[in-house]
Amino acid sequence: MTRPAIPFIDLATQQKRIRAKVDAAVARVLDHGQYILGPEVAQLEAEMAAFSGVKHAIACSNGTDALTLCLMARGVGPGDVVLCPSFTFASTAEVVAQLGATPFFVDIEEGSFNLSPASLRAALDHAREIGMKVVGLISVDLFGQPADYDSLEPIVEEAGIWLLCDAAQGYGGVYKNRKVGTIGDFTTTSFFPAKPLGCYGDGGAIYTNDDDTAALLRSLLFHGKGSDRYDNVRIGMNGRLDTIQAAILIEKLALFPEEIVSRNAVADRYENGLSNVLTTPRIAEGSTSVWAQYCVRAPGKNRGAILAKLAEAGVPTAVYYPKPLHQQTAYRDFPTAPNGLPMSEEVAQDIFALPMHPYLDASTQDYIIDQVAEAVRAA
Ligand SMILES: *Cc1c(COP(=O)(O)O)cnc(C)c1O
Repeated sequence: MTRPAIPFIDLATQQKRIRAKVDAAVARVLDHGQYILGPEVAQLEAEMAAFSGVKHAIACSNGTDALTLCLMARGVGPGDVVLCPSFTFASTAEVVAQLGATPFFVDIEEGSFNLSPASLRAALDHAREIGMKVVGLISVDLFGQPADYDSLEPIVEEAGIWLLCDAAQGYGGVYKNRKVGTIGDFTTTSFFPAKPLGCYGDGGAIYTNDDDTAALLRSLLFHGKGSDRYDNVRIGMNGRLDTIQAAILIEKLALFPEEIVSRNAVADRYENGLSNVLTTPRIAEGSTSVWAQYCVRAPGKNRGAILAKLAEAGVPTAVYYPKPLHQQTAYRDFPTAPNGLPMSEEVAQDIFALPMHPYLDASTQDYIIDQVAEAVRAA
């Protein structure tokens, strides 16, 4: 039996649904010619703010710049220490180091792959003991699930530091009736094409309920502009989102709520089919994940053999992340939580991701489930 190639993420089916609308939207931008900060950017920002129930949505160039802009808004620089997980995409720590500050790596929890409150507490105590100036925490909503904010927030509050939520993978999620985007001092996301809400290029956004922070971010992403673009009141950067990408995102945002439901149906089917075969992801009571990735673990099994067998069967997989940041060449000299990062190191050994997107049909998914079960049994 030959079956069509299974995509790991299927952007083509979504594009078929909206192609005519996207073509028309791009044509409108070409007609009005306002390629930079055209009306679609403001429209997208208003729609995202309404979608998330947040006062300010600020579109920007990408998810990495979104993080950088937030750090710049808090004046982060040399001598400052910012806590963050090690088991994440490099951007989370890169932005801290890029500004001359020090990322301080904290461990994750077993079930959620998100920040461990116990490790965070230990890291803060240790930093205080040795006189480090901790200014903030970047939490990550890894693989689409919001971090454990009920546990993180009191720690952040007691320490008197800011909280930046890196929701590059988690935008659209909900944490106990609080929408992602409304949590922390600010939240960032990425519209990289493969993210749950992606554009057709680079893009990102920042969400905040604070008026002053929003105004500061808008200045920073436009070269530190003051009353107009040739009045520079601070050092900023070029961090704008293109109008064409905003026009595309307006069409994609319209599909997003329905796609989140479909992603969760796919996750449920995996859970039913695989929970007695390997370790499936745990979503906290009251939380909704947007399933940027569906990551499973096969502890004690040969991951390489499993992935090779799946590749043979035409089931694409990926490993997020094969090496935590504190073990990477560029990051290994930065400080880590005093008890080490055992969970980050353990998870990196046996985690892998299965195809996940809103258009995965049941029969293809059942084939994937059967192949995964067989590969795990054989490994
Ligand atoms: C993708 C990602 C980013 C960076 O987003 P870009 O738009 O690619 O710059 C940052 N943090 C996390 C956790 C990500 O997954």
